[in-house]
Amino acid sequence: NLQSTTTLNNGVEMPWLGLGVFQVEEGQVLVDAVKVAIKHGYRSIDTAAIYGNEAGVGQGIREAIEETGVPREDLFVTSKVWNSELGYDSTIAAYEESVSKLGLDYLDLYLIHWPVAGKYKEAWRALETLYKDGRVKAIGVSNFQIHHLEDLMKVAEIKPMINQVESHPRLSQKELKLFCEEYNIQVEAWAPLMQGQLFNNEALQEIANKYEKSVAQVILRWHLQNGVITIPKSTKAHRIVENADVFNFELTDEDMKHIESLNKNHRVGPDPDNFD
Ligand code: NAD
Repeated sequence: NLQSTTTLNNGVEMPWLGLGVFQVEEGQVLVDAVKVAIKHGYRSIDTAAIYGNEAGVGQGIREAIEETGVPREDLFVTSKVWNSELGYDSTIAAYEESVSKLGLDYLDLYLIHWPVAGKYKEAWRALETLYKDGRVKAIGVSNFQIHHLEDLMKVAEIKPMINQVESHPRLSQKELKLFCEEYNIQVEAWAPLMQGQLFNNEALQEIANKYEKSVAQVILRWHLQNGVITIPKSTKAHRIVENADVFNFELTDEDMKHIESLNKNHRVGPDPDNFD
């Protein structure tokens, strides 16, 4: 179910599915989306300093806790340090600012948002400090390619628990997934639905019809069966509910392969090697 979790390499439990809030501005729509999600069983919320919406996410969380009685410890809140703050002191300060905007006293997961060359190792040292201090339950990276992970692990004392990367049927990230599996780094997909660009895909529609599910549900199920965490974004209550209803059916091996065959190594976001 929606509260089922995977165990990260440090023993922390992280939900398989969460709510993404990229491009959702501060305001009632955001607060309500977070509350609707938690009321319908979501336990994980993914935000970032650069999204500019941590205050609203925090408000939604606080109101949901008050109205549902779900304890803070059952929630899993992720934020990310932005590129401009990647340094030892600046990353620690950025963490404290995120926590303060969210109105929380700890985060469950803190990520380096992008692998800015020459900067991510110092930032990682800061994440290690935050983790060792018990200020954050798990630490990880985002948009790291294999070479970035190899480079980081040469100096890291603690290896990342998560690598959050763009992934969907047009960018299946097969090689990176195998690498992360080998090192016990959990892969988490952003833009799991390719930001809405796959809903007219005929092959996916056909598969969806067969299971009497939506294309969104089939894609999210494909991620799950690949052992990938997803954080689909929506502010519409019916879609938030729909995206969570993916734990009661199973794609056949044949359909899994069919979806994998749609891969074109096509990105909707920036190339991590050329983005800072
Ligand atoms: P997504 O793949 O989750 O797609 C979101 C889009 O699909 C929205 O336009 C939404 O309205 C639509 N949608 C969602 N569910 C639907 C449904 N059931 N039916 C029809 N349409 C539906 O894209 P995303 O928001 O870019 O990615 C998800 C989350 O990943 C973000 O919100 C954010 O939290 C995170 N993210 C991280 C990074 C990073 O660099 N680490 C980058 C982008 C996003």
